[in-house]
Amino acid sequence: MGKRIVIVGAVALGPKVACRLRRLDPEAEITVVDRDSLISYGGCGIPYYVGGDIPDIEGLCSTSSHALRDPEFFRRSKGVDILPRVEALGIDRQAKKLQVRHLDTGKEESLDYDKLVIATGATPFKPPIPGADFPMVFTVSNLHSARDIKEKISKGQVEKAVVIGAGAIGIEMAEALTDLWGIETTVVEMADQVLPAALGKNMSRIIENQLEKNDVKVMLSEKVEEIVGDPESGVTAVRTGSGTLDCDMVVMSAGVRPNTLFAKESGLACGRSGALLVDRGMRTTDPHIYAGGDCVELRNLVNGENMTMPLGSLANRQGRIIANNIYGRASKFKGTVGTFCIKVFDMAAAKAGLTFAQARDIGYDPVHSLVAQPDRAHFYPASKLMYIHLIADRKTRKILGIEAIGSQGDAVKSRVDSVAPLLQAGIDVDEVCVLETGYAPPFASAMDIINNAGNVLDNILEGKNITMDPVDFIRAFEKNEIQVLDVRDQNEIEPFIKKYGKRWMNIPQAELRDRLDEVPGDRPVCLVCGTGARSYECQVLLSQNGFDNICNVQGGHAMLLATAPKFV
Ligand SMILES: Cc1cc2nc3c(=O)[nH]c(=O)nc-3n(C[C@H](O)[C@H](O)[C@H](O)COP(=O)(O)OP(=O)(O)OC[C@H]3O[C@@H](n4cnc5c(N)ncnc54)[C@H](O)[C@@H]3O)c2cc1C
Repeated sequence: MGKRIVIVGAVALGPKVACRLRRLDPEAEITVVDRDSLISYGGCGIPYYVGGDIPDIEGLCSTSSHALRDPEFFRRSKGVDILPRVEALGIDRQAKKLQVRHLDTGKEESLDYDKLVIATGATPFKPPIPGADFPMVFTVSNLHSARDIKEKISKGQVEKAVVIGAGAIGIEMAEALTDLWGIETTVVEMADQVLPAALGKNMSRIIENQLEKNDVKVMLSEKVEEIVGDPESGVTAVRTGSGTLDCDMVVMSAGVRPNTLFAKESGLACGRSGALLVDRGMRTTDPHIYAGGDCVELRNLVNGENMTMPLGSLANRQGRIIANNIYGRASKFKGTVGTFCIKVFDMAAAKAGLTFAQARDIGYDPVHSLVAQPDRAHFYPASKLMYIHLIADRKTRKILGIEAIGSQGDAVKSRVDSVAPLLQAGIDVDEVCVLETGYAPPFASAMDIINNAGNVLDNILEGKNITMDPVDFIRAFEKNEIQVLDVRDQNEIEPFIKKYGKRWMNIPQAELRDRLDEVPGDRPVCLVCGTGARSYECQVLLSQNGFDNICNVQGGHAMLLATAPKFV
């Protein structure tokens, strides 16, 4: 008889373990249980199903050759038994038995295992807000809620929606509701920015503008206090700290919590997040029990701390590692740098590593560069501006994180993907300056934007480039704390002079050497140019000539336009 492998959870990690193991070990008896009736689907596609890009739900449950991934498919094609509507209740670790209940019949039984795999994922967190259980309040975690949401929308039952939480799922759902269905959608977020776990302040402003430009209203630093409505007919409004938003649907996307109750009760160790602790072989504190995916803590490879990182990309990779180890082929999953990407209407954002705030909060002294540059050679017709945020530790010059935003998603993702694997190796700023990437005009510039982000950061760390962030610049300008010196040519800046008068001076870079006496020496001067390159050179010139109250705006006018279009 082969090894008896029991797997709990049949969406991402569970089926991956089962299928890989079957390919390695034809003898193993592999049983997968899931309390849900729907199994092995692409949950990451839910927003695109709701938004209409994926017309039928079957698209999320099929293989690339259009075979439906149901229990019959797994039995016949993969030699794996999947039992839907069977819930795991507890583990008798001594006897190596998993207690389960068949949800349709109520029957309980024990499944013997040699190795057990916990792939139970996570459940959306429902903040304890009055009204959270009313009809028409949804979380987005599985195909049932996806189907319900789409059914209500397509029947014309939703004119206004509120999305609670501006993390990745909240933003994807806001786009799905607005883009095809034209639902008036408001995103309410407690933090003072969108994607707070993924992007720095300046970069998040670009995404906020992108949402607003596409008719999604964004409310930041705002707490939902009550969902108004009744238990029969559903919601009518959401009450926040500052007012009431009428709506007929609420989507809650306030993060997730790992599903670990029965595992914890059996004595398996969990971390501070409540997720299971695993070693690099994905073994729990019981050597016969493995776990992976959204229900485990992973090592953050930038700072060595444990964290949860609920990503399907990671769950699938861990599945292969678990199968290898069960088979006896030692494999390791070292951890993650949290590489992530998202589409926001016709823009994309990606990130890896720590944000500036995360780095600061765990004790680094972070320094950052913000760069705006075409994503391919500037003379190539398809080139589009792209924005990079690179974060390093001041003392060690170690790179801690990278973020990218642009309108060509593949270009955005490729920049972050090129740095992500190096983050875990402890790459420093100097290595980013010379990072080797491919070049041809249709794909990149000879000096790639990544290299320039490194160069700018190097200059900042050397104390040569004295910068101000766009968000700080706007605040300081609005408070009348700075004088602007725009070093672009006059024709580029006429609208600013018209709008802001003397507070927005112009001396083109080519004339600055001869007009140093016109530069105010009695108040802080902030230099602006197109993307930050000319203003940096001017700042160096001014510093060499004894001006000591000079800085320049990171990313220049391009970054201001992206972060604060109303200001420019
Ligand atoms: C809307 C949405 C969009 C997403 N987009 C992306 C994306 O673009 N990129 C990305 O990388 N990730 C994305 N994710 C995250 C990704 O889907 C998850 O990280 C991934 O599904 C986790 O896989 P898992 O196998 O660990 O858990 P899950 O996929 O959550 O599966 C766990 C299964 O375990 C079952 N289960 C739980 N407890 C028990 C029990 N006691 N007994 C029996 N069964 C049980 C559950 O019913 C569930 O079916 C998205 C998620 C959502 C919801």
